[in-house]
Amino acid sequence: ENEVLGAGRSAWLEKDRRYVWHGMVPYEAAQHPLHVVRGDGPYVFDVDGRKYLDAMSGLWCVNLGYSRRELAEAAYRQLTEMPYYPLTQTHSPAIELAERISTWLGGEYRVFFSNSGSEANEVAFKIARQYHAQRGEPHRWKIVSRYRAYHGNTMGALAASGQFDRKYRYEPLAPGFVHVPPPDCYRCPFGKQPATCALECARHVDDVMRWEVDATIAAVIAEPVITGGGVLVPPDGYLPKLREICDRHGALLIVDEVICGFGRTGAPFGHQRFGVCPDIVTMAKGITSGYLPLAATAVRSEIFDAAFATSEDYAHLRHVNTFGGHPASCAVGLATLDIMERENLVDRARTLGEVLAGELARLEDLPHVGDIRTFGLLAGVEMVEDRATRAPLAPDLVARVVAECKARGVIVGKNGDTTPGGNNVVTLCPPFVVSEGDIQHIVDVLRDAILSLS
Ligand code: PLP
Repeated sequence: ENEVLGAGRSAWLEKDRRYVWHGMVPYEAAQHPLHVVRGDGPYVFDVDGRKYLDAMSGLWCVNLGYSRRELAEAAYRQLTEMPYYPLTQTHSPAIELAERISTWLGGEYRVFFSNSGSEANEVAFKIARQYHAQRGEPHRWKIVSRYRAYHGNTMGALAASGQFDRKYRYEPLAPGFVHVPPPDCYRCPFGKQPATCALECARHVDDVMRWEVDATIAAVIAEPVITGGGVLVPPDGYLPKLREICDRHGALLIVDEVICGFGRTGAPFGHQRFGVCPDIVTMAKGITSGYLPLAATAVRSEIFDAAFATSEDYAHLRHVNTFGGHPASCAVGLATLDIMERENLVDRARTLGEVLAGELARLEDLPHVGDIRTFGLLAGVEMVEDRATRAPLAPDLVARVVAECKARGVIVGKNGDTTPGGNNVVTLCPPFVVSEGDIQHIVDVLRDAILSLS
């Protein structure tokens, strides 16, 4: 039987190597993809029947786990009833989901639907510029963002991103993006320790507003926690400080909740944990638990009313996606929120996050573990060559930790500073349906993988 399976696998692999182009994966690594054929709860199974505990929820998105029939049935029902209509007009799943998102955000928001986090951010940038232009400030066009952040792969969203290796050889990208240092407390760009921190990284944005001239700044964009850039958890006062600076300088605050949204941080949205009210919130991934593509850009109704509730020429948002807000995706989004509410999964993510933080504390004294950061059900373990100098662990050794985890049946991620030699953070983002035992197991496996380096 093994021979049959083996033969089947090599036929797939041969075709994969010939026809499929895998992004973000260097050529040699792309020769050995994990070929997943089935999922069940937090587990995926490969083409050889091997089982893996997916501690990355796919690509930070399958929050409800892999085998929720209710989500598939919601899509099926919608597809048989009304499979498609564009949102230049309207349909019920979009209306209902927009209202639900507004409720989850805890305010009055207008929701524009698209297909991916990248698009949701592109829409946010357009809205920010148009808002200012229609209020008599057309010169406000620049967007301030942070190094280490990822906001997407399209020319504007990539320009907003602060990750070197995703941009290299694709530049020049969209102009008008100004980068500031991230809140990286382990490697504070301002040389501070947590005890001496006076939020210099946030205050720096104030200086940038002056140096760039604030009348040219449309918005600041920030994830509540920089996730793909290595799970950088900011000090409590950081996001409120950004809010205050934006208010003082007349810029909008865009919060990118593509990963942090929909319960991941133990609150409905990550920014709520910091007590700020953004002007624009972008979201994707967990909105459908990854079962279908969907994204949204939610804009505070006050912003909408102040600039877009008019029929003047060119005053409406001139942007449409054929598939944005697809009825089946919206139906799956609604079913996702139903499950989240019925099973109290936001609270569960918070409780499991505490368990994860407690378990990860066991790794604190291991060789090569420099820093452990958690926020809700998200974690980053920063790997170093030397704990005293904090020199990043060599990329091939970080990759070995990830590979050792995989060999032991647990999928973890690798992220961080994407300049050469910097990608040294092992990341965890498990589905909300893992058990406490699963979390212990993930940490046990990670511990063994790290110890295998010595
Ligand atoms: N914003 C953040 C914070 C992300 O992590 C991502 C993707 O990982 C994006 C935006 C882009 O989303 P998408 O891949 O759906 O375009």
